[in-house]
Amino acid sequence: TMMTGAQYEESLRKMNFKVYLMGEEVKNPVDHPMIRPSVNSVKMTYDLAHDPQYQQLMTAVSHLTGETVNRFCHLHQNTEDLVKKVKMQRLLGQKTASCFQRCVGMDAINAVDSVTFEMDQKLGTEYHERFTRFLRKMQQEDWTVDGAMTDPKGDRSKAPHQQDDPDLFVRVVEKRDDGIVVRGAKCHQTGALNSHWVLVMPTIAMGPEDADYAVSFVAPADAEGIIYIYGRQSCDTRKMEPGADIDLGNSQFGGQEVLMVFDDLFIPWENVLMCGETEFSGMLVERFAGYHRQSYGGCKSGVGDVLIGAAALAAEYNGADKASHIKDKLIEMVHLNETLYACGIACSAEGHRTASGTYLIDLLLANVCKQNVTRFPYEIARLAEDIAGGMMVTQPSQQDFEHPVAGKFVAKYFRGTDKAPAESRMRIMRLIENLTLGTAAVGYRTESMHGAGSPQAQRVMIARQGNIEGKKKLAKAIAHIQE
Ligand code: SF4
Ligand code: FE
Repeated sequence: TMMTGAQYEESLRKMNFKVYLMGEEVKNPVDHPMIRPSVNSVKMTYDLAHDPQYQQLMTAVSHLTGETVNRFCHLHQNTEDLVKKVKMQRLLGQKTASCFQRCVGMDAINAVDSVTFEMDQKLGTEYHERFTRFLRKMQQEDWTVDGAMTDPKGDRSKAPHQQDDPDLFVRVVEKRDDGIVVRGAKCHQTGALNSHWVLVMPTIAMGPEDADYAVSFVAPADAEGIIYIYGRQSCDTRKMEPGADIDLGNSQFGGQEVLMVFDDLFIPWENVLMCGETEFSGMLVERFAGYHRQSYGGCKSGVGDVLIGAAALAAEYNGADKASHIKDKLIEMVHLNETLYACGIACSAEGHRTASGTYLIDLLLANVCKQNVTRFPYEIARLAEDIAGGMMVTQPSQQDFEHPVAGKFVAKYFRGTDKAPAESRMRIMRLIENLTLGTAAVGYRTESMHGAGSPQAQRVMIARQGNIEGKKKLAKAIAHIQE
């Protein structure tokens, strides 16, 4: 059954994570001021599923049980599911103006489903059945799952088995009758501490010598042997300031990234989904990355909607909204933002069925989508800063605004038009700062660059999928070249 946001929060409180943040072990991550906004973002994925207005996007009918499940736990059964996924992500980006984290698990289950199916077909293994058992439980319990792919990778010029330190890619250190023991780490783990389970996948295509590294499994996120070290975000300690509100820009929502360490973690065989099948590790990476590149067409355009709205308000508060260059800049921002969305929709509409029945996006278009994401949010952010003006980085603190002496001057000199008191302007400036330079810039900027694979990874896929030979044939036919 689908949890409400409140039930989700309760379920998180029961987890027993081992987590370090700013030099301290955190016993209650849910209420830690630096972590809390990220919990609220994931909560939104639960609450909106109960909102009649959004149920159509937020829920789906399970192909396993026929029951209604949260779409984040669903395997895409057709291209309409793929399209709805992107629309759901845009909606959540609009509602949170941050990363709501739950997509990595959705993308992971969809990739692992088709890959384990094809692996079993070819090798006679039994991974797909194990996975399906897990999925059934995940749907029933409405879990948030952390899809964990990115290894530390050490020396990028070396394969996993060639590294000085053999743990720089997650590996199997021991095979036992009852299961395996794994060691290693996953970096930049989005929402890991807001998850009930983790689904670990290998991070690159591998050769036979890397067999110990071709490993995929599921584990409870608070299993003994998993240690979390919380990632810092720009301006994150503002959240620790008592009464902080205006200065946060977005006081309610945020993202979360964590270093996840497997310190000799035991995994029973029933939870192992790949163990040594190197020939399938590349396929798993490609499909997971493909889904996540599709995802960005949704979430980034949703966050972009908020940023464009903020820029338009900043202009209005300044009395500059009628200036033709401002109007044109807003048009440019919308154009760029809708281009991202269009790519997300396009790779979904052009999706196809895989052998397991789960639908996969068009990989070329998904990679084009993500390649645009490595550029357009930066340009949208640049235009937002252009429209906002310097105040977004020089305005005084909320404490000064509330100070009996300084406050009067702040209110007097930071006002805009007669409809724009200083507080409204300060709030919108801080929101723009949050998205372009602050905590949310992690998701909106650098993650747009490197999340779901760095730009070069997409270019490799575009080269592979771009069919230049086919295009040459077209040109020859038109030009009447016979060879
Ligand atoms: Fe979802 Fe976007 Fe966050 Fe990835 S970056 S988890 S796609 S919201
Ligand atoms: Fe991501």
